[in-house]
Amino acid sequence: MRATRAVIDLNILRNNLYAVRKHIGSGVSICLSVKANAYGHGAVAVAKTAEASGVNTFGIATAGEGAELRLAGIKGSILLYGFPMPGEIPMILKMRIGTFVGDEKLIDLFAAEAEKQNTVAVVHLKVDTGMGRIGCAPENTPVLAARISENKNLKLGGICTHFPASNSTDADFTKEQIRIFKYWVNKTRENGIAAGIIHAANSDALLSIPESFMDMVRPGLLCYGYYPSGLIRDTAEKLPVKPVMNFKTKVIFIKKVRAGTPVSYGMTYRTKDETVIATLPVGYGDGYNRLLSNRGKVLIRNKLYPVAGRICMDQCMVDLGTGSNVKLYDDVTLFGAGGNKSGANAPDAAEIAKMTGTIPYEVTLWVSRRVPRVYISMNKLKLSIPGGCGCADNRTCK
Ligand SMILES: *Cc1c(COP(=O)(O)O)cnc(C)c1O
Repeated sequence: MRATRAVIDLNILRNNLYAVRKHIGSGVSICLSVKANAYGHGAVAVAKTAEASGVNTFGIATAGEGAELRLAGIKGSILLYGFPMPGEIPMILKMRIGTFVGDEKLIDLFAAEAEKQNTVAVVHLKVDTGMGRIGCAPENTPVLAARISENKNLKLGGICTHFPASNSTDADFTKEQIRIFKYWVNKTRENGIAAGIIHAANSDALLSIPESFMDMVRPGLLCYGYYPSGLIRDTAEKLPVKPVMNFKTKVIFIKKVRAGTPVSYGMTYRTKDETVIATLPVGYGDGYNRLLSNRGKVLIRNKLYPVAGRICMDQCMVDLGTGSNVKLYDDVTLFGAGGNKSGANAPDAAEIAKMTGTIPYEVTLWVSRRVPRVYISMNKLKLSIPGGCGCADNRTCK
């Protein structure tokens, strides 16, 4: 197997899901956001683990992502968070994917295709209460809900909204969104319409605003082990989660160099003294971002070493200094779960995000297609994972 791999611990994923379940209580259902290949973790393995842990709804962003899950045997509800192109609707219905809608035009397109396929399309009415992205104006909720529920080829699966600022720093904005949303959902119900599942909360709202739970929550990031607003002791105690992904490689080459030796493109790094440089077979082509040039730190044998020079597409270098005990083919952690009580910890995706000026969502997503995902499988559950190295258990995979 390649030295560079993303180790995905499905036991941690399951523990995170249980932490979410405990926090929201048993009356609220979970739609696990597995869009963008489950934030880089592998949508099929993540969804199968979640399904085995009692989660039965999965949120995706494109019809293709939904089809991938269906074809892999996911039986639960699949919910497309966006509006598709008209040409995608036939496949969406064949794959039994529920979809957000927000205007008459899209509602009617679904109705027409569902009639053609002699089926019933499940749609969720998306209400824009302040995100400014997709959805109907709140006051149009009753009339659009009626248009859906009156059509024999459509089922109003739910009504939903989304929060742009759900963290505790702007809870007032979110609470006002919730007030408006609930008002129009109630108006719709007063007209005798079955509104279906009412849902709104992303990870951030789930952590900080219990009023946002309603019938279902749609967390993503939290389940992969990160807090959207950063790690606040209070939230960590309330809802403890751990990073699911460990991005790893191995030392592929070691050399002793003299003082003044340039390292990598642009010669931005020159060794100050005699030192030892290790080369790692990972670069920005794998998702180890180029912004980590001369900035990143990697963990080898319980010690942190700095990235030396620019990150290349497929390789990068670290300065081991003199006297390190690092050997050829030693394991290297680029980012991961930490939790090492005796030695140093590798940075986690949140720290990488800080170093590169972005958010942890993007950091795990950077890990590219050519990096095999190695799954630590759930106890007893055997998963067969297509792609990657093909193995289901890294304890037996060498
Ligand atoms: C991505 C997304 C979510 C999940 O967001 P997290 O911050 O990862 O919890 C929920 N709802 C919608 C509509 C989304 O697009």
